[in-house]
Amino acid sequence: MRKDGQKVETIDFAAAVLDWYDRFGRHNLPWQQPATPYRVWVSEVMLQQTQVTTVVPYFLRFMERFPDVRALASAPVDEVLHLWSGLGYYARARNLHRAANVLVTEYGGEFPRDVEQVQGLPGIGRSTAGAILSLSRGERHAILDGNVKRVLARYHAVDGWPGRSPVARALWHLAEQHTPGDRPAAYNQAMMDLGATVCTRSRPRCELCPVAAGCEARAQGRQAEYPGRRPKRDKPVRATRMLLITRGEEVLLVRRPPSGIWGGLWCPPECDLDADPAAEARERFGLDIDTVEHWDVFRHVFTHFALDIHPLRARVAGPARAVMDGPGQVWYNAATSDRRGLAAPVTRLLEGLEGV
Ligand code: SF4
Repeated sequence: MRKDGQKVETIDFAAAVLDWYDRFGRHNLPWQQPATPYRVWVSEVMLQQTQVTTVVPYFLRFMERFPDVRALASAPVDEVLHLWSGLGYYARARNLHRAANVLVTEYGGEFPRDVEQVQGLPGIGRSTAGAILSLSRGERHAILDGNVKRVLARYHAVDGWPGRSPVARALWHLAEQHTPGDRPAAYNQAMMDLGATVCTRSRPRCELCPVAAGCEARAQGRQAEYPGRRPKRDKPVRATRMLLITRGEEVLLVRRPPSGIWGGLWCPPECDLDADPAAEARERFGLDIDTVEHWDVFRHVFTHFALDIHPLRARVAGPARAVMDGPGQVWYNAATSDRRGLAAPVTRLLEGLEGV
């Protein structure tokens, strides 16, 4: 539903974009002068996860040291990684180096003319291949980087997350349709610029946009809804039983392994839900225990999963001979013991003990 009742007009999309580019686009980026396939390729890979202003000094240093594909191919990969330091996503640099070697050994140091062959090089996807060939050679190839996706998804109100194949296919289809035979290089650069400077992720500046009159998202007042977000996946749920074994005022805690969740922190002993807690206590600690009560289950949520904690309060039956304080276990008294690293749910459990 359109919130403001605006209607979209049919406009010549590519012509409007090109006209805007001639007046407001970026014409002086270092990789545009000259826009060789090698320079465009390196810039496109650097720009995959990084903004233009950050990329420029890296690009200039890279070109100074590796002015062409042969210089890059013959360099040790450590030197390439060194020049990449700070840009992140280092697989990009390793792929650049590998692809440079493929270009030298299989293509005589030149970029192939066939887009499929360019796409077959390490680290080069469909959009990057299209950008290399169109921006450097003026060939008509569509591109669909993050900026272009955003403009097209909004302009056509394409529902769904572009990471899903049907949505990606729909966007590629639109990208192909809009890419003009005339001035495809300028058009592709214009679309990237438009996405980066006008149709921005938050608060797009629609009043400055050359295609605003035809934009569905704008007419509906729903710019923020496009492109669709990645659906949140339900987190997997794990379960554990925590044995709150007490001896007078003390409770038995064990130190967790150094890595993994709560690495190195102190925690009540755990066992599987279907394990026999009395047998666990006897085998692991030489303790005979009496179950006191099952406490309410509660959930602790981590980044990648949720943990349902089933607390079981138990009391040592008879003298606790076998368990001594040591590097991996301790009889802990909240009032008198040294401070120890405790995860938040464990603190909550120990507070519960104080009240019983
Ligand atoms: S009108 Fe606004 S939302 Fe639509 S393409 Fe232009 S900047 Fe993006």
